[in-house]
Amino acid sequence: MRNVVEVNNIQKVYGKKGDSLSRALNGISFDIADGEFVGIMGPSGSGKTTLLNVISTLDRATDGIVEVAGKNITKMNATQLADFRAKTLGFIFQDFNLLENLSVYENIALPLSLQGQSAKQIRAKVLKVAKTLDIEAIIEKYPSQVSGGQKQRAAAARALVHEPAIILADEPTGALDSKNAKSMLEAMQELNEKQDVSILMVTHDAYSASYCKRILFIRDGQLFTEIHRTDSRQQFYKQILDILAELGASQDME
Ligand code: ADP
Ligand code: MG
Repeated sequence: MRNVVEVNNIQKVYGKKGDSLSRALNGISFDIADGEFVGIMGPSGSGKTTLLNVISTLDRATDGIVEVAGKNITKMNATQLADFRAKTLGFIFQDFNLLENLSVYENIALPLSLQGQSAKQIRAKVLKVAKTLDIEAIIEKYPSQVSGGQKQRAAAARALVHEPAIILADEPTGALDSKNAKSMLEAMQELNEKQDVSILMVTHDAYSASYCKRILFIRDGQLFTEIHRTDSRQQFYKQILDILAELGASQDME
């Protein structure tokens, strides 16, 4: 199977020469195969956000190579990165990032409008993802008129509408109550299992992580261990809690 992400010996150092340096990532390597649903966990300050930002082209590695969808993103200039990001990646953030002045329909359509696709093409694609995420009934509403769970499913639809090679999610359930978090995770699981969408999700929450098929645990900017889900989700959840305890990252600590 093809790899959608290849991370090779990534280093990320913050701070300039002479200043005190902060080593956020210290030689991380891993691959994500096409169609995987991978989680990243680790204690606060371990480098999770930095790692996601480096893969998502929002930040640059100090050293090492990152390939996404077969392209070496560490060599691209700013214009190439912006273009690559718009075509190849889908983002879901904790706080939805929907534009309040646009309807749910217009928000989902945005990545396609920016690519200059025709209104007819856009309509077909938006309606298709809205159906997948079960938000057809609210697409004419504005973000302020829908629930948090519906907002996050709208954000997922927007992340998906241009058929990205991978969806990158940073704490996608962080602002949701447990019922909406569950429906969001089930939607992500269905996208992964039924439509083969590749997903990389950072989370500090063991329940959310239990929906992944594989989890990478990081500590001090290095890979600590990784686990695969082979058994039930409940079993996986217990396994995750055990590793978090070993890492000293309890559930209420972040
Ligand atoms: P996590 O998301 O796991 O909490 P981060 O990736 O945010 O961890 O941070 C990893 C380390 O890098 C931390 O020690 C943090 O203080 C440091 N760091 C993160 N961003 C910056 C930055 N912009 N400038 C300096 N240090 C940073
Ligand atoms: Mg973080």
